[in-house]
Amino acid sequence: MAERRGTAARLGHRGLRDQVIKTARRMNALGVNQGTSGNVSARVRGGFLITPSGLDYDRTHPADIVRVGGDGRAAGRRRPSSEWRIHRDIYAARAEVKAVVHSHAMFATTLACLGRSIPAFHYMVAVAGGADIRCAPYATFGTQALSDHALAALEGRKACLLAYHGMICLGDSLASALALAVEVETLAAQYWRALQIGKPTVLSKAEMARVLEQFKGYGKP
Ligand code: 13P
Ligand code: ZN
Repeated sequence: MAERRGTAARLGHRGLRDQVIKTARRMNALGVNQGTSGNVSARVRGGFLITPSGLDYDRTHPADIVRVGGDGRAAGRRRPSSEWRIHRDIYAARAEVKAVVHSHAMFATTLACLGRSIPAFHYMVAVAGGADIRCAPYATFGTQALSDHALAALEGRKACLLAYHGMICLGDSLASALALAVEVETLAAQYWRALQIGKPTVLSKAEMARVLEQFKGYGKP
């Protein structure tokens, strides 16, 4: 027991490593991702903790979570997610972000495969921070080009789609980043359904500005 405690202590951020794994498993259990697709990270001082590349989340142990510094240097027994550059660049550019969830959710990815952004067909689109949820142009997974496209699409937003790929959600906690992924996937599914039976019209910029204002107090005591 003493030995095990010692190992855990040497790992550092034991609780947060557990939370990163729990979030990744929950992402799949909630149906907003599948298999080893997607990745999850949480900010720590000077860097972030991220899921390892290509490892089944059910087989991921706290020691498999990789610490990546702001300089991109990785520490751990596994290779960090191939998308570590996206996570690094988001933490560098967005001080308010504490967690990042990337997933290949079914409906969000379906729209992304068509290169479609999600417009203000429903007021809840504002949950991602603006009047639409942009779709970033395609670039090969794991590249700096993809990170650059993602950062641009995330400007003023907490979520974006990635063409021919999936989605990214940001949060001030792992729970809020995952909750946003569920919201974005729900919106994508609703938009997809609306497209099946008609041509959705969108709420005006002025109305979406009002919704954003309403959201400032929403859910707060
Ligand atoms: P990793 O297993 O390397 O995180 O890759 C999954 C993925 O979604 C790449 O875009
Ligand atoms: Zn991906």
